[in-house]
Amino acid sequence: ALTGHKGWGPVWRDPAPKSEYDYIIVGGGGHGLATAYYLAKQFRQARIAVLEKSYLGSGNVGRNTTIIRSNYLLPGNEPFYEFSLKLWEGLEQDFNYNAMVSQRGIVNLIHTDAARDAATRRGNAMILNGADAVLLDREGVRAMYPWLNFDDARFPIKGGLLQKRGGTVRHDAVAWGYARGADLAGVDLIQNCEVTGMRIENGRILGVETSRGYIGAKKVGVAVAGSSGRVMAHAGMRLPIESHVLQAFVSEGLKPLIDGVITFGAGHFYVSQSDKGGLVFGGDIDGYNSYAQRGNLPVIEDVAEGGMALMPAIGRARLLRAWGGIMDMSMDGSPIIDKTPIEGLYFNGGWCYGGFKATPASGWCFAHLLATDTPHPTATAYRFDRFLKGAMIDEKGQGAQPN
Ligand code: FAD
Repeated sequence: ALTGHKGWGPVWRDPAPKSEYDYIIVGGGGHGLATAYYLAKQFRQARIAVLEKSYLGSGNVGRNTTIIRSNYLLPGNEPFYEFSLKLWEGLEQDFNYNAMVSQRGIVNLIHTDAARDAATRRGNAMILNGADAVLLDREGVRAMYPWLNFDDARFPIKGGLLQKRGGTVRHDAVAWGYARGADLAGVDLIQNCEVTGMRIENGRILGVETSRGYIGAKKVGVAVAGSSGRVMAHAGMRLPIESHVLQAFVSEGLKPLIDGVITFGAGHFYVSQSDKGGLVFGGDIDGYNSYAQRGNLPVIEDVAEGGMALMPAIGRARLLRAWGGIMDMSMDGSPIIDKTPIEGLYFNGGWCYGGFKATPASGWCFAHLLATDTPHPTATAYRFDRFLKGAMIDEKGQGAQPN
């Protein structure tokens, strides 16, 4: 701003689409951009394009509440999310961009004895997979956040599961960092280019129809988050995914109050504080299916009630902004990174409301699958056929926290 915003050069090129690529990635969100970046940089592939219907980062990657963590329980999940957290830890050096990765710690609150048992089990599973976890008693939580509502008649706070390496990352910067890195590695980032159809012959994909004309490809990877159902319908596929809106909220700027991330263990509410001072918080998805990128009042009320139960002081803060993003809710709450029955067509989605933290590993594992036709060792469970076999990865059923 001191230079009057003059002399800024574009950070990536604005190429016209070529007639054919080896790889087309549909969706210029975090996962699509990370996939293209690792395909080019890690797996040394070339002739790659990312097709984005709007501008890069216009979807959930720029709408989430920025939380990263690897505090999962199930064998299908924990190694993957821990891989992701390790990639976050080296990401800024890797793509040479300040993404404000801030390992400020995340604490999941415990309100019952049964929840303490579940948290202990989850913490042990995390440690067994190389992650970090600390079980806090009530006084341990009080030492961190003395103003929480410890003696609520319904949900007294009895402790917490702390992951110190969890935290927050500046979400837009993640999109920009991956975009610049991919562009420097030769990837064509094509904005305002909506995929409107797929050309499939004899069970093989030949390319995609777009708002900027037909583009051929040897392999097509779809990573469109909340639009998964609509895009895969172009290939005649019906997914085990529903789209719902998730809202986020930011209060007016306050003096430093929360230096980590807190999640309520008895309701759907979580909160952190941005570097600008705003309390960043959220809760449950809107109840019905929607492709709208804005939410509705009943959930705002529900989130506010959760916030008041946990930290009554929040009632004094004014709400500054609220927005929504479209979530690709899978039937077991876990993602899919897999080939499809159509040769050359690959799918990445079903991230629900927790896919931001997965961005680096999702991109890496999807690039691995696209380049080698084999799943990455940490993503072998994320297959379509688990719904056929009934081998669900029901992390939420195990009491994990949202986001
Ligand atoms: P997106 O950024 O949505 O990328 C998909 C892209 O595909 C979009 O840019 C879209 O325009 C494009 N697209 C769609 N259709 C087409 C088409 N036909 N042709 C071309 N392009 C197309 N996760 C966490 O881990 N931690 C959190 O704290 C967290 N909080 C959240 C809070 C909110 C309010 C929301 C909405 C989400 C939150 N999430 C969180 C979830 C996380 O943001 C998503 O799971 C993740 O960002 C999805 O992957 P993405 O970044 O690739 O999606």
